[in-house]
Amino acid sequence: MLDALRQIVQDVGAASGFRASLDLLVARVSMILDAEVCSIYLRDNATGRFDFVANEGLNPDMVGKVSLGPSEGLVGLVAERAEPVNLDDASSHERFRGVAGIGEESFGAFLGVPIIHVREVLGVLVIQDRDARRYREDEVAFLVTLAAQVAALVAHAEATGEVQGLTTGNGSVPREARFHGIPGVAGIGVGTAYVALPAARLELVTDRETDDVEAELALFDRAIGQARDDIERINAQMAKNLGPEERELFDAYLHMLDDAALAGDVREHIRAGQWAQGALKHAILDQAATFERMQDSYLRERSADVRELGQRVLAILQEIRETRSSYPDDMVLVAEEVTAPMMAELPIERLRGIVSLKGSRNSHGAILADALGIPTVMGAVDVPIYGVEKATVIVDGYYGEVFVDPGPLVRDLYERFQEDEVEFARELESLRDQPSVTRDGHRINLWVNIGLVSEITRSLDRGAEGIGLFRTEVPFAVGDRFPTEEEQRVIYREHMEAFEPRPVTMRTLDIGGDKPLSYFPIEEENPFLGWRGIRVTLDHPEIFLAQVRAMIKANEGLEGVLRIMLPMVSRLEQVDDAKALIHRAHRELVEEGHAVKEPLIGVMIEVPGVVYMIREFARRVDFLAVGSNDLTQYMLAVDRTNARVADLFEEVHPSMLMALREIAKACHAEGKPVGICGELAGTPEGAVLCVGMGYDVLSMNAANLPRVKWVIRSVSLIDCRRILARALRMRSNSEILEFVRDQLVGAGLDRAVPHHEVPISF
Ligand code: PEP
Ligand code: MG
Repeated sequence: MLDALRQIVQDVGAASGFRASLDLLVARVSMILDAEVCSIYLRDNATGRFDFVANEGLNPDMVGKVSLGPSEGLVGLVAERAEPVNLDDASSHERFRGVAGIGEESFGAFLGVPIIHVREVLGVLVIQDRDARRYREDEVAFLVTLAAQVAALVAHAEATGEVQGLTTGNGSVPREARFHGIPGVAGIGVGTAYVALPAARLELVTDRETDDVEAELALFDRAIGQARDDIERINAQMAKNLGPEERELFDAYLHMLDDAALAGDVREHIRAGQWAQGALKHAILDQAATFERMQDSYLRERSADVRELGQRVLAILQEIRETRSSYPDDMVLVAEEVTAPMMAELPIERLRGIVSLKGSRNSHGAILADALGIPTVMGAVDVPIYGVEKATVIVDGYYGEVFVDPGPLVRDLYERFQEDEVEFARELESLRDQPSVTRDGHRINLWVNIGLVSEITRSLDRGAEGIGLFRTEVPFAVGDRFPTEEEQRVIYREHMEAFEPRPVTMRTLDIGGDKPLSYFPIEEENPFLGWRGIRVTLDHPEIFLAQVRAMIKANEGLEGVLRIMLPMVSRLEQVDDAKALIHRAHRELVEEGHAVKEPLIGVMIEVPGVVYMIREFARRVDFLAVGSNDLTQYMLAVDRTNARVADLFEEVHPSMLMALREIAKACHAEGKPVGICGELAGTPEGAVLCVGMGYDVLSMNAANLPRVKWVIRSVSLIDCRRILARALRMRSNSEILEFVRDQLVGAGLDRAVPHHEVPISF
C-alpha cells in the first residue's frame, strides 16, 4: 500500500489544478480500496458548512451544488470528533442524514476521515459501499495517512481561494487574496511583486488571467523559438555520439512544438485569457495525462517526454521574463526562500517589502531585511509564487499578513497606517544625537548589528554608538571563494573608519547552520547541531588566522577599540585555542612592523551548556554577548528557520528569561561587561527586560534602534526592574509579552508596539 499511497500523493500534487487533484484523488481511492463511492467535503470558511466538492460513484451533477451544516450528518460527526468514523450500516446511525439528490441512501458501509491541517478540520474524506461491512484497520489507516498528506494541498488551495472557486465555478487565484505568514520585520510595505523564481516547475504555476493576450502570445512564440534552437543545437551536438534512431526523440520534441500539436493547445489557452505560463501548464499536463492513460507502454512513456519539454519551455519563459522585466521602482520581493546573497544582488533602494515562503523571523534572510528596515513576512507558505508577479502586494510585517491585489478599502487603510509610521519615524529622528539614558539617568549602550557596507550610513544616521556584531559571513557569502586577507582588511577598515572612534565588535566567521557558503558546501543531516561557527574555524586555522590578522590590521592607527568575538563556543578549550591564535596573529603583525593594538576578546553565549559555566568563560575573556537567536533555538529545541515551529520560538519563554538573568548576574560578578545581540534586543519588550536585568549593551539592527532608544528614554531603570520582577513570576511567553506590552501602553508608549487592526476581509 505504501507504493499506492506514494503514487496517489505524487499524482494528486502534479494534477493541473486543484479541481483536477480532487477528481483524481476520489477516483484513485475508490479504485485502490475497491469502494463504490469516494467523496470529499471541504469546509467553506465563510459559512462553516461542508461543501460536496468531489465524488466518484454518486450523482456527478450534484458536485459543487450541495453542502452540509457544520455539525450536520455523519460528515459533521467526523469533523466534530476530528477522528475517523467507521460504520457498517450508516443509514441506521442516528446522525445519518442523506444529502438530497446525491443518491447515497442505499449505501450501508461508511468510513469518514477528517482532513486536518495545523489542528484545524478543513474537510472530510469519505468512502462508502452498498453492502453493510466494517472497513478493515489497514483501510482506515490508509485513508487517515492519505488525508493527512492531502491536508497541506487543501490548506494551500484554501489560502489561494481555489477552495471557494470550486463552488463558485472559478478555480483560479482570486484577484484579491490574503495570506498568513510569520511577522518577519515590522513595518508596512506596498509595492509591485517581483518574483525571484526557483527552478521552473510546471505544477507550481498558478492560473492567472491576462489582460494582454497578444503580449502573452508573443512571449510564448519567443520561448518556442528559443526552445527549437536549443533542441536543434543539442541534436547537432549529439550527432557525434548518437545514431539517427537514438536521436528520434529530438525530432519528436520539435514536432510537439508545432502549431498543430502542443503549441496549438497552449495558444488556445492563451486566447481564452490565460497567461503564457498557465496556458503551458494546462496544455502539458493534459497531454501528459492523456499519454499516461494509454495501454501501449511505449506511448505511456511519452508522458515523461511531454513533461520534460514543458519544463524546458517554462524555464525559457521565466528566463525571458527575468531579463525582460526590469526591477519595479517599488519592488516587493517574493521568493521561495529569501537569502542574503539574493538580496545583495537587488537594488535595495527600490525594495518596499519582502515575502518569503520559507524561513522564519530568525532566518538570516529576515535578519538582513531587518537591518535594512524592509517590512518582511516570512513563512508565507501559501502565497502562489508563480501567480503573483507584477501584482500589487501589501506586506504587513507587524502581523505577518500579505495582501495580493487588495481592494480599495484595504489599500486606503494601509496607506493611513503607513502615514502614521512615517510620522512616527520623523519624530524619532530628533533623538539621533540624544544619549540613550533612562529617565533616572542609567546609561545603556545602543549598538548595531551589521553585515553589508550599505548599512554603515543607515546605522550612523540612526545614532549607533558602536558595532555590537559585525556578521563577517555576509561579505564571505557574496564572492565565489574565500576573500583574501587584504580583501577582508579593506572591508573591515571601511567599517572601522566610518565608526571611528566608536568600538567595533567583529565576529569571527560563523558559517554552517543556515549560513552556507556556495564555494564551501557543508553537507550535514543536522546542520544546526553540526560543524558551524568556531568549530569550523578552529579546524581551519589558516582561515581563522587570515581573518583575525585582517581585523587587527584594519584597526591600525585608529582610536576605536577592536573587539573580536567568537561564535558558538561550547567548551573552554575553544576559547583558549582561539585566544592563542589571536595573540599569535597580533604578535606576528607587530613583528612585521605594524603598529597594531591588542584587540579585546569576547565570546557569544549561544549554547545552553555555557550558561551553567558562565563564570569560567567570563574569567577568560574581556566581554560577553548573548546571541539570543541561537540561545533560544538550542534552549527550546526549535529550529530558528522552520516556519512550521515558528510559534514555538519564544524569546521570552520563562526559561529564557531565567537564563538571561543568570548570565547577566554571573558576568557582572566576574566584573565583565555583557551585551545581547540577538533580535530580542531590538524589540521594545526585550529591551525593557534586558535593561531590567542589567545588560550593558543592546545591539540590534539599525532600523530598530530609534524606537528602542525612544522606549529607553521614556522609562526608568526602576520601572524596568519592576516589570522584570513581575515577568519572572509568569509562566508563559505570551503572558510575559502581553504584560510587558500592557506596561508600555500604560506608559504612553503604544506606538512602540504593533497596534493597528488588520482588516478581517475585503
Ligand atoms: C544570535 O544567534 O543571536 C546571533 C546574534 O547570531 P546569528 O543570528 O548571526 O546566528
Ligand atoms: Mg548565532
